[in-house]
Amino acid sequence: MLKTVYDSLTWKELQLTAHAASQYIPLKYGEAGTTGPRVTLIAGTHGDEGPWSALAIKLLCRHPAEQLTGRLRVIFTANALAAEVERRNSWIDSPNPVDLDSVFPGNPSGSHTERLAAHLAPLIADSDAVIDLHGGGTWCINAFVKRFAGSEQLAADLGAPFISNAPNKPGGLTTYARSLGIKVTNLEVGGRSGREMYWTERNVQGLERALHNLDVLALPAPPAPPEQATDVGKTEAMRTQVGGIFVPTLREDAVGTIVPAGTELGKILDLHTLAELQTFTAPFDHTAMMLMRPQICTIEGSALVYVVAQPV
Ligand SMILES: [Zn+2]
Repeated sequence: MLKTVYDSLTWKELQLTAHAASQYIPLKYGEAGTTGPRVTLIAGTHGDEGPWSALAIKLLCRHPAEQLTGRLRVIFTANALAAEVERRNSWIDSPNPVDLDSVFPGNPSGSHTERLAAHLAPLIADSDAVIDLHGGGTWCINAFVKRFAGSEQLAADLGAPFISNAPNKPGGLTTYARSLGIKVTNLEVGGRSGREMYWTERNVQGLERALHNLDVLALPAPPAPPEQATDVGKTEAMRTQVGGIFVPTLREDAVGTIVPAGTELGKILDLHTLAELQTFTAPFDHTAMMLMRPQICTIEGSALVYVVAQPV
């Protein structure tokens, strides 16, 4: 039977201190290929965003192993304790939750998440390129990629509907990679919805283009160039004024599209009386729907509901 890239992965395991019952949990990653440029694909830095990206990476690995011309490293679940509770951060840090994507290059004697970053940092550091897959997750869907200077082609290859120039995030994985001169991008596409496999398959095609162009995977028929992405400017977060029941007007097929000013996006209803408390409308003549909640839910005051931007 034909050996795939997935079949040829060599699994490695680091031991990470965790809770009392198990003392250690594994941080597993797979490697394939022996020579050539090395690309690291990492998913699940934020625990609630992980499985969609992990599946995209696994689907990418269905190609024959002989097509591998470089070295591939895959980290399917970077933040396992956060993933098992479908939360952004693990619950184990004390006294406060720590965002893994804010503590690179980590601290080997710090909190759980700081130690995790210290385990991941060497895997980032010995890469020629890193694709950090986030995306929507349990509560939102996303449709953009972050572009960094020096890695423009990598961001474009991933084929997201929107591209934004990202500022350096203090302690971020991408910031750490950039400080070492490594090509890097951060993909924010997909999440839980009825169209989750549409976005997952689209991300697979993006990864195929990226790895083909990075000379890591020689595909006889790489996916066609992506549709021209829309460049957007500064993003704007829209939050609830008060808590209640959130009822989206625009549904999951609206993410990644541009809607006119005044388009009703969704409403907040009073939890007790169902009176309308807040209506979200598109703020710009051309409002790029970068992140949205596609489903009815009960929601707290100040919660993030949309991220929008203007095309530039
Ligand atoms: Zn994230």
